[in-house]
Amino acid sequence: MQQVVLEAPRQVRVVDAPAATQGAGEAVVRLRLAGICGSDLAAYRGTSPLVSYPRVLGHELLVDVLACPDRPALVGQRAVVDPMTHCSHCRACRAGRYNCCANLEVMGVHVDGGLQEINVLPISRLFAVPAALPDHVAVLAEPLTVAYHAVERSRIRAGETAVVFGAGTIGLLIAQLLMRARGCRALVIDVAAGRLLIAQALGATPLQGDEPSLRKAVAQATGGEMAAVVFEATGVAACTRMTTSLVAQAGTIVLIGWNKGPVELDTVTLMRKEVDLRGSRNSVNAFPPVLQLLADGIIDAASMITHRFGLGEAGAALDVLDREQDNALKIVLEAH
Ligand SMILES: [Zn+2]
Ligand SMILES: [Zn+2]
Repeated sequence: MQQVVLEAPRQVRVVDAPAATQGAGEAVVRLRLAGICGSDLAAYRGTSPLVSYPRVLGHELLVDVLACPDRPALVGQRAVVDPMTHCSHCRACRAGRYNCCANLEVMGVHVDGGLQEINVLPISRLFAVPAALPDHVAVLAEPLTVAYHAVERSRIRAGETAVVFGAGTIGLLIAQLLMRARGCRALVIDVAAGRLLIAQALGATPLQGDEPSLRKAVAQATGGEMAAVVFEATGVAACTRMTTSLVAQAGTIVLIGWNKGPVELDTVTLMRKEVDLRGSRNSVNAFPPVLQLLADGIIDAASMITHRFGLGEAGAALDVLDREQDNALKIVLEAH
């Protein structure tokens, strides 16, 4: 079967590999569609602090269940995949927060992922996709769980205004959840004009500029109060630093973008405003509600997917993301 291996940074190889054998509690699945994203790009560029090589990429997966002896009802169904394995005994797991398990393994990051025709996966990590949900909407389930968790972490309330740094897939999914599922306003900041146009078409207020002009725009939009929540979804140090300046008194900052290394923040402002600074990573129990949101048409999926490639063209797809060509947002690989 075809398998996409990242042998070293920028070295993608499509190989013919044997499929794994099925064990107890596992299902054999065939890949339909896979999304690639910023974390795959970081692995490709060699800038991810978490990835080692060689690595089979792939953590945003839509599959067909081929065999599943322990849950036969799943056979023949489409499913999305929770890409995390957790230990169940560390402090985070005991607290029900397995998304930040001390021994976490994420497919395509710490362990080999799903960019291969056949995968063998634990049944507990498969979520059946409602029949009416088209493939190209269902494939957004995994990135939407990440956005969903970030919004949950923010504890934002209806009627509040948020700033979102980054009009990439995660930033735009956060903005959509805020506006369409939470009754909030979203001010979206990015350097790419094309991405801001998408943000605007989705109903967000697009913002661009240096710190003083962004401060002014956020102040104007909030009657001087600034943003109840600032989501940082770029991983760019300059943006991370600006979060303290755009957040309101008693507001919340949620960090979702991975910085390349530690970033210095204005802790005096954090103290003065009594800001809650919260990390957000992966998601917890988010697949069922996210599939419901997608099935109910709450999320505009069509505007998020900008490119489609075949599974064997994964290298070309990563190259498009790498060179930030054609306003690339979500790229999907079609396996069959
Ligand atoms: Zn992803
Ligand atoms: Zn754990």
